[in-house]
Order: sequence, then structure tokens, then C-alpha cells
Amino acid sequence: MIDNGFSTKEADKRMAKLGVSGEDISAILVTHEHADHLGGVARYARRYGMPVWASHGTASMIKDLDGVECFNSHQSFELGEFSIEPILVPHDAREPTQFIFKSNELKLGVMTDTGSITQHMVEALTGCDALLLECNYDREMLLNGAYPESLKRRVVGDWGHLDNLQSVDLLKQLETKKLQHLVLAHVSEKNNSHELVLDCVSAAIQCDRARLKVIDQDDGLDWCTLTTDNNRKETLHA
Ligand SMILES: [Zn+2]
Ligand SMILES: [Zn+2]
Repeated sequence: MIDNGFSTKEADKRMAKLGVSGEDISAILVTHEHADHLGGVARYARRYGMPVWASHGTASMIKDLDGVECFNSHQSFELGEFSIEPILVPHDAREPTQFIFKSNELKLGVMTDTGSITQHMVEALTGCDALLLECNYDREMLLNGAYPESLKRRVVGDWGHLDNLQSVDLLKQLETKKLQHLVLAHVSEKNNSHELVLDCVSAAIQCDRARLKVIDQDDGLDWCTLTTDNNRKETLHA
């Protein structure tokens, strides 16, 4: 599990929808200490007894749980069948990281909560078989919207979030030929729309928008299956 901003009851409900339970989770990785990512982690870990992993900076902000396991943000580590590479990101938290997971010759990238694009991110995320990417806001909607000025400045800043065009800019710098799934995530309910996200991304990487997925904050997302079998492999561009 990566992050958990939910109550245990809500997390259990969402897990059940996917046919799994907290007992199936072997560890929780925490990207950073913002409440929408960390808020439910300690309670969930205590309820089910799984270890929690975070960077040293993030771990120092987890006050309500003992024994957080720390990874080095500059080094890959192994958990179960996964090799996990943390990617440090520019975001207004202590030591925020996102992740690359490798297993069985497959590469999954997870990238949310970053205010700008770094060369390190581009190098890490290229050539993924699946990618979950933040498309947080539409610039016009945010700037003309109801957020207070200070919050607008935070979101658009280099340590805030990616808008649709920045995400597209990142995608264009990546090798996307192998992508079987592209999931657009951390989409603002107030300053963005699924339609805008789909329009921007499908045009940028020239794929059928029906092949893209946008995560709905209320409904979550169903399982996405990755295959190494060339005969069954459907990529976004296929
Ligand atoms: Zn967030
Ligand atoms: Zn955040």
C-alpha cells in the first residue's frame, strides 16, 4: 500500500471493493507527511500490524507510530518481490519521495505531489510498463477559482503540484512505448476536470482517450493488470 489518508473504516471499504483486506497488505510506503497521504497510516498499521516505510525526513514527521522503517531516498531497496526505487521530488514536505517498482521485468512508476519536473524524475520514469501520474489542476481554473491567494501560490509553486500541461510536458520527455496503463491521479475536484485531463494527455501522447484512466476521488480505481506475455500485451499505442 502506498499512503493512506482514509479512516480505517473507509480504507477497509475501498479494499473490500477490490476483493482484498488489510491482512493482505505486507507494508505501507509513505510518500510524505501531508494529511491526504499520512492521515490514516498509523491507525491502519496498528489495526493490521504491517510495517510502515518512509524516508528519514518523512519518518521524523510520523509522530503517532513507533518503529517506522526508513529507506535511503538515494538507494533502491527490496520489499517482497519488488525492487523499489525512491525518487526525491520537489514538494513542500520534509523529504518527499515517489516510487518506481520493478518486478518480473515490469516497471511501474508512481508520481504525484511534485511541483516541478526534475531530470532525475525523467530518467527514473522513462520506459515504464505502467505509470500513475499526477494531473492536479488546470491553471486557468485554479487562478480564476475560489482558493485563497496563498493556497493558489502554494499549488502553482515549484514545490506544489503539477498542472495538466506540466504533466503532459513530463510525459513527452518519457519513452512511453511500453505503457500498458496510464493512470492520471491526484486530480483536483475544484480546479480540474476529468475531461480536461483526458483531452490534454491523449493529445500529447497520441493515444485513444478510452485507453486512459482517471482516478475518481470517491470511486477509486479497479485493478490494472500488467502482463509480460507479448501475445496478450496491449499497450496504449497498440
Ligand atoms: Zn497529495
Ligand atoms: Zn502533498
